[in-house]
Amino acid sequence: MKTSPTSRYLTALFAVAAVATSSLTFSLVRAQEAPPEPEAPRILTEPLKLKAPLESSEVFGRSVQGRPLWAHVLGQGPEVTLVFAAVHGNEWATPYLVEQLRAHLKRHPEWLQGRRAVLVPVLNPDGLNRRSRVNARGVDINRNYPGTWRRPRRGEGFRPGAYPASEPETQAMIRLTNKYRPHKIVSIHQPLHCLAYSGARSRNLARAIARENGYRITSNIGYPTPGGFGAYCNSILKTAVVTLELPWQSPQAAWNRNARALLAAIMLPQPRG
Ligand SMILES: [Zn+2]
Repeated sequence: MKTSPTSRYLTALFAVAAVATSSLTFSLVRAQEAPPEPEAPRILTEPLKLKAPLESSEVFGRSVQGRPLWAHVLGQGPEVTLVFAAVHGNEWATPYLVEQLRAHLKRHPEWLQGRRAVLVPVLNPDGLNRRSRVNARGVDINRNYPGTWRRPRRGEGFRPGAYPASEPETQAMIRLTNKYRPHKIVSIHQPLHCLAYSGARSRNLARAIARENGYRITSNIGYPTPGGFGAYCNSILKTAVVTLELPWQSPQAAWNRNARALLAAIMLPQPRG
């Protein structure tokens, strides 16, 4: 049966209406999801004067499978904050936060007056490539640091590697922290939805972040983490460190919630020691 011109016209009209509605819905959703642009700090009135380009990038090591480990250094000030992610390759929202933070700081360098941000989006690229917690040798990098490293006891399932800092990713992070001597460090993980701090010197950093994202603060995530990065910072580096544990959520939702929190971490004055 042939369709009448009227019905063909109506079909076409509905098609146009459907496209228009879906793009309208899409733009509404986009508008709702668009992250709030954090305001520049009010205390900064002078423009940032830079002697060198705002950002320099370096390969600070290679993974087991030879993938480059990238660090992006923004700003030139003396107050150094290290932010890194994708230690566990299955925590897929975490590198997005670091990349978004990097893009934000490049658009708004006024945040970097007197400061420097060292940003590592991915510490475990082999794990990220396979969506796996561990590195390509099956080692959990966050159980491989010196300081509190030990072998698992009977019934414990963690995978610390053959000896402390046996893994190239761990060695690279130790070199990076020794090179830049950060005043404070934010290590981003999923999915425990809390702020875990290590040592009393890290409490203020946790509070500054919690004021912006509302996460629960804890000094104990509920199970032992021998060879963890937090304990390494506390016992050996003597640096303030907070593990920012996102819930399972979309990368964009995680960034919307944490943009101001990460900027607050960079802004916080933190004495050494
Ligand atoms: Zn993790």
